[in-house]
Amino acid sequence: MMSSNQSWIDRDLAVLWHPCTQMKEHETLPPIPVARGEGSWLYDFDGRRYLDVISSWWVNLFGHANPVINARLKAQLDQLEHVILAGFSHQPVVELSERLVQLTPPGLERVFFADNGASGVEVALKMSFHYWRNQGRAEKTRFIALENSYHGETMGALGVGNIPIFTETYAPLIQPAFIAPSPDCQQAEPGESCADVTERALAAMRALLERVASQTCAIIIEPLVQCAAGMRMHEPAYLTGLRALCDEFEVHLIADEIAVGFGRTGTLFACEQGGITPDILCLSKGITGGYLPLSAVLTTEDIYQAFYCEAPASRAFLHSHSYTGNPLACTAALATLDIFEQNNVIERNRQRGAMIDRLTAPLAELPNIAHMRRCGMIVAMDLVDDRAGNRGKPFPRAERRNQKAYRYALDHEVLLRPLGNTIYWMPPYIMDDDQWQMLADVTFDAVRFAVQD
Ligand SMILES: *Cc1c(COP(=O)(O)O)cnc(C)c1O
Repeated sequence: MMSSNQSWIDRDLAVLWHPCTQMKEHETLPPIPVARGEGSWLYDFDGRRYLDVISSWWVNLFGHANPVINARLKAQLDQLEHVILAGFSHQPVVELSERLVQLTPPGLERVFFADNGASGVEVALKMSFHYWRNQGRAEKTRFIALENSYHGETMGALGVGNIPIFTETYAPLIQPAFIAPSPDCQQAEPGESCADVTERALAAMRALLERVASQTCAIIIEPLVQCAAGMRMHEPAYLTGLRALCDEFEVHLIADEIAVGFGRTGTLFACEQGGITPDILCLSKGITGGYLPLSAVLTTEDIYQAFYCEAPASRAFLHSHSYTGNPLACTAALATLDIFEQNNVIERNRQRGAMIDRLTAPLAELPNIAHMRRCGMIVAMDLVDDRAGNRGKPFPRAERRNQKAYRYALDHEVLLRPLGNTIYWMPPYIMDDDQWQMLADVTFDAVRFAVQD
């Protein structure tokens, strides 16, 4: 048995092109074969295991092979695996839509489905543009995004992205967004508070809107945490201020909660903390508990009504994906929402906060760790140099240090996957106290190992 497993992983590099990877690097660190998952653990074939503290790319909320989700999916499998959603409907998609409307901020009343995060963002951008066009304001063709934003990697989504490693190469193919300063608290100048950064970012946004609002459809943001940028966090007050600016200047607010939704920031949705309702809300990743690809785009009755008429067809929102609203994915999402409700997950996560802060305190004291930060169930810290002349800055050749931390943690049963010089924890919500402690210990040792020469 072992040898046949061995043989498929050896064949991997002969056929597969892995995502987000310079394939040549696999010459020294081949892909890790995963035989099965259980709870927060991933297991290979040789008895090695890895604590999945990045939730398999930020999607898994309640562990691998979760018995509740598994049982519901198996039952749905015998009912209906998939059906076209144009002209047809099914129970899981209706029930999921109802529950999302009920759980998301008030005023979001219509749900449009797609099948992954980036396509959800494409839906949001097209919907906003098309709304204005239907209102006779076809001159609105542009978007505003934040510095360091990430909204996925299809062409439209890259247009509202601002992380060079993803966008630069494709720049000739992309219509770029206007970029506004990020409210990221780490950008505080000496003597400035986070509230000052918030105000400065809002003032800059106002200045930008004064110039370009007439040609702008929407502002798109990742509320509270810019995840792919390195878990950069901002104040809820920014959301409140931004909502007011969008109303004043007649542009939509698109909240991309693909990564931060479903409890990551401590509330079910990040927008709640700013007390706001966006015009369009994008959800994906955790929506199915990490089981199946699905995205939902929620919007207001006002936007919906702008498309509702007899003719012409071009006024209707014709966007479609083959697997739109897939019944199995919707069922996994319904089971996920049941777990939230039945286990009082948001409250239990909140109670974990003090314990997590206790665990991060020793790490924060390491001379090579800066910007220890937490927002709900996202913890992040930056690996920095502590040598005179470069103190507090990323190491020269930081990539090598991050790779060392990654390898060290893997060797010690923890799957950490640094983002640039940021080490972060974004674990499933089911980790027990021992697993949290192990995570903190291994991270501590991985940092100390990474900074040695
Ligand atoms: C991951 C992510 C996306 C894209 O989702 P995919 O399913 O990977 O296409 C969009 N926005 C944010 C904020 C994300 O973190």
